[in-house]
Amino acid sequence: MTSEFGLIEQYFSAGGTRRDDVAVGIGDDCALLRPRAGMELAVTTDTLVEGRHFLPDMDPRDLGYKSLAVSLSDLAATGAEPAWATLALTLPEADAAWLGAFSEGLLALAAEHGVQLVGGDTTRGPLSVTVQLTGYVPQGQALRRNGARPGDLVYVTGTPGDAGVALIFQQRGYKPPPGYGDRLKACLNRPVPRVAAGMALRGIASAAVDISDGLGADLGHVLTASGAGATLELDTLPRSDLMQAYIERTGDTSLMLSAGDAYELCLTVPAQRQADFERVSAGLDCRMTWIGMIDAAPGLRGREADGELVELAMQGYDHFSGDA
Ligand code: ADP
Ligand code: MG
Repeated sequence: MTSEFGLIEQYFSAGGTRRDDVAVGIGDDCALLRPRAGMELAVTTDTLVEGRHFLPDMDPRDLGYKSLAVSLSDLAATGAEPAWATLALTLPEADAAWLGAFSEGLLALAAEHGVQLVGGDTTRGPLSVTVQLTGYVPQGQALRRNGARPGDLVYVTGTPGDAGVALIFQQRGYKPPPGYGDRLKACLNRPVPRVAAGMALRGIASAAVDISDGLGADLGHVLTASGAGATLELDTLPRSDLMQAYIERTGDTSLMLSAGDAYELCLTVPAQRQADFERVSAGLDCRMTWIGMIDAAPGLRGREADGELVELAMQGYDHFSGDA
């Protein structure tokens, strides 16, 4: 095996954006950063573990991409501008082809968002990837989970649930319909973090969360933090052609609310900011759909097309459910 340091040099220190707020990047004991005045730093960490978050045969380029994308999604939900990343990589072996593809996938997405990889750690062990990402948000302007108020409108970006459909195909070994193979893979491996949307909606949205556990669960986090409830108009939930085909085939409409791994944003907006919200949203390159309202009564409800109200689950996936 090449030395740990040799690997890092070869694959990670060359690439990525060079930022002027980085005094020292990879190569010393610590990175030295020069944060801009008047800004708060938004910091997030995510770990992807082989066998738990991704299958052993995942394309390393996709894994590199997704490792950063999930953290970018957290910054998006905060309205923060991405800046610096660190990468803790645990590898069973030093495979040059694997490392080359992994670093390309990660660094290409980093460059797209102006992120510089400023450090990390490399160890030997079962494959796992941890990215810490830091971004800027003007003081006091971060989008939080606790700002939703009764009467606020609830919106969602994109079409949450598609990754759930893709996962069913993967887990059951279904053959994708002609023309859908790449779409299904992209749903699982190439989520598009809504960074521009989060930043543009600072000062307009009252609360935001990104959908990693499922729309119901993640909106549930907003409701709990805000001390409020919500009623969703179930027939307004946005459906992709993929989801539509799945629903027609199975009759199962639950994935739009329950499927995780979407990395879309769910936002709440005070009624008096609706016009601003829709003007700004129109300039974004992602679908934005109104799906319901925040209520004073706690809990999450859904209204069927015929007007009937149903109680909706706010539980998502819990890695430790069942543990003592
Ligand atoms: P130390 O033992 O002093 O922590 P390392 O040999 O672990 O130093 O790392 C040397 C340099 O390479 C450090 O600047 C560290 O941040 C960086 N580094 C190590 N692993 C990675 C990685 N996977 N990605 C990016 N930078 C890394
Ligand atoms: Mg180290």
